[in-house]
Amino acid sequence: MSIVLRDVSKTFGTFKALDGVSLTVEDGQLLALLGPSGSGKTTLLRVIAGLEAPDSGSVLFDDGDATERQARDRGVGFVFQHYALFRHMTVAENVAFGLEARPRATRPAKRVIDRKVDELLHLVGLGGHAARYPSQLSGGQRQRVALARALAVEPRVLLLDEPFGALDANVRRELRRWLRRLHDELRVTSVFVTHDQEEALELADSVVIFNEGKIEQVGTPAEICEAPRTPFVYRFIGRVNLLEGLADGSGVIAEGERFDLPAGAAPRGWIGFRPYEVELSAIPLAGHIAVRVRTVNRLGGAAVLEVETESGQPLRLEIARDHPAAAVQRGERLWVRPTTLIAMTLPEQVPLPSL
Ligand code: ATP
Repeated sequence: MSIVLRDVSKTFGTFKALDGVSLTVEDGQLLALLGPSGSGKTTLLRVIAGLEAPDSGSVLFDDGDATERQARDRGVGFVFQHYALFRHMTVAENVAFGLEARPRATRPAKRVIDRKVDELLHLVGLGGHAARYPSQLSGGQRQRVALARALAVEPRVLLLDEPFGALDANVRRELRRWLRRLHDELRVTSVFVTHDQEEALELADSVVIFNEGKIEQVGTPAEICEAPRTPFVYRFIGRVNLLEGLADGSGVIAEGERFDLPAGAAPRGWIGFRPYEVELSAIPLAGHIAVRVRTVNRLGGAAVLEVETESGQPLRLEIARDHPAAAVQRGERLWVRPTTLIAMTLPEQVPLPSL
């Protein structure tokens, strides 16, 4: 089922948690909502679920306007960060809960429920754990039970709020791949909230970057990584250096050098580049910015240099540890040339966010 949000806003007191959000989730898509803490991701998920009413705007499902529809009538399955399993019920009873709780007229027969629970537990790889209690499972297993429970009622939409947030990094990575495979099999339209870039980019068909209640960019993981459309996305998706200067036709003059921007980029008086997309020289060269080294950290196969330009702008540079410049000492000078400047199409008045 597809979901369309039209100009949805939500204010708590005087705080605008959602500010005119419009978004389409295609049928069968796995979409990630990615953004910093407090940016409104959970609020948006709750609005889709019907757990929160928007102040204005509408939520449309395939079968019409759902804005006024109760949560229980929306056909939505929800998985939260904290498993929220019933501790006094076995795994099988937890998964059966949504079906058992139906009014008698729509409740399936006991044997139908049993068969469904059995199928779902196999689907999430917990076929042998039906009689266990949640306390007898690992965190990752509990989260899979929570997912099976959400799927039992055959939701038309699955909403997941940081479902792996409480798990350690390895289990998280494993469950992420598993969820992707499960989604490929079931194709239930799913919206997934996370503040973990890697998780969103690896898992989702489409990623929405959220900031201060607004959408900064919607795109495939590749589009978000390769063509960030705002300084915020650029910074949020990876570390970045930004230098302010003067816009000059198709380029920018910064730190006494002129940089041609890629075709299509709107020069706004600054340039951006990734810390690892640089060439370094120990002597002054044309097109290179003079910097002074503040710190050098050698970590594994890489060296990370914190440097400062002549105008006092700090930059981060990442180079291979066997690069000649990695032997540089604090206080020495280097010359830096960004090898890739990222194209951005920006509205005129977007303020640069601070790091
Ligand atoms: P996180 O990743 O930390 O969960 P989030 O992006 O999901 O953050 P939300 O939970 O949607 O953010 O919250 C957005 C903002 O709205 C926050 O500043 C939060 O404090 C505020 N907020 C959310 N729910 C309420 C509420 N019921 N009453 C008052 N303020 C709220």
